[in-house]
Amino acid sequence: MFHSAALKLTVWYLAIIMVISLTFSVSLYQVSSEDLGRNVNRQLTYFNNFLGPQDLNNYSNLRLRQLNNDLKHLRANLFLFNAFVLIGGGAASYWLARRTLRPIESALAAQSRFAADASHELRTPLTAMQTENEVALRSNNLTKKQATELLKSNLEEVGKLKSLSEGLLRLAGSNQTDNLNDSVPLKDVVSKAMQRFSKTAAAKHISIDNKARNFNVRGDADSLTELISIFIDNAIKYSPSRSTVILKSWSRDKTISLSIADNGQGIAATELPYVFDRFYRTDNSRTKNQAEGYGLGLAIAQKITEAHHGHIEVSSLPGKGSTFIVHLPAA
Ligand code: ADP
Repeated sequence: MFHSAALKLTVWYLAIIMVISLTFSVSLYQVSSEDLGRNVNRQLTYFNNFLGPQDLNNYSNLRLRQLNNDLKHLRANLFLFNAFVLIGGGAASYWLARRTLRPIESALAAQSRFAADASHELRTPLTAMQTENEVALRSNNLTKKQATELLKSNLEEVGKLKSLSEGLLRLAGSNQTDNLNDSVPLKDVVSKAMQRFSKTAAAKHISIDNKARNFNVRGDADSLTELISIFIDNAIKYSPSRSTVILKSWSRDKTISLSIADNGQGIAATELPYVFDRFYRTDNSRTKNQAEGYGLGLAIAQKITEAHHGHIEVSSLPGKGSTFIVHLPAA
């Protein structure tokens, strides 16, 4: 598909180049032939005063032959020039067409990879529900207890599907933030995000030590709460029980920074560059830790941060812990 699009674009680029080149050549030929013709006429008028009719006739024939030769030369040169433009322009047009299409090509590839990953993740809970329901339907003496268990499990899977679809919607951008210029007190968004996870943290006996000082950040309060929630959620998910998550903040050069540090499982240096990719989960999270998630949180965090003209830094030591620092513009 992209090959034929590149060829079509090449033809268009080349057509434009050739129209310009041919127009230039025709104009040059006209101007030059008129100039040369005028020159010959001037010379003939001048020699008319000195030469007899026979000599003048001979000289005029000679000059006209020379003029024709010059014009033939010019036509040949212009032909060569246009042939060169056609070949060189064709190659340059194809290169330009490929270059123009490359970002579209990779965006399309990323989109289909995203759709494939999303479908794969959606299929897992759906298959689990389907299997459980089929087994239950086949059983002749389903007890009330078993039915309740089945409904609970179904609800759990529905919950997963809901959180996955919310994540997908967030990434697809259909939940756009619009008031990115509000002055948002950092302490408000931090405490809102902490409240969301107070129960999960308590269940794992994890204490969240909030040392973040208050600064005003430029952005959207709800999105910033979501952003900080993602880091706190991960810090709790990927930390052992009875550990501590520490939040700190500082201000430098009109930038407010917030760090979220944990003493959890950490991320291997080889995996660190990929944690912001959609659907990426480290080997540790998929296997040993078994923490729930789809690998969308950090991709969403990245998207929110970029929309706020900020950036995220991460440092981590496997087995020691991770620190995520988000830098945002001050209000
Ligand atoms: P998930 O839903 O899997 O948590 P994220 O996009 O939030 O998705 O994170 C991507 C992966 O990065 C996680 O699966 C985990 O392997 C790793 N990760 C993120 N935060 C941490 C952390 N604080 N400590 C250790 N690993 C982390």
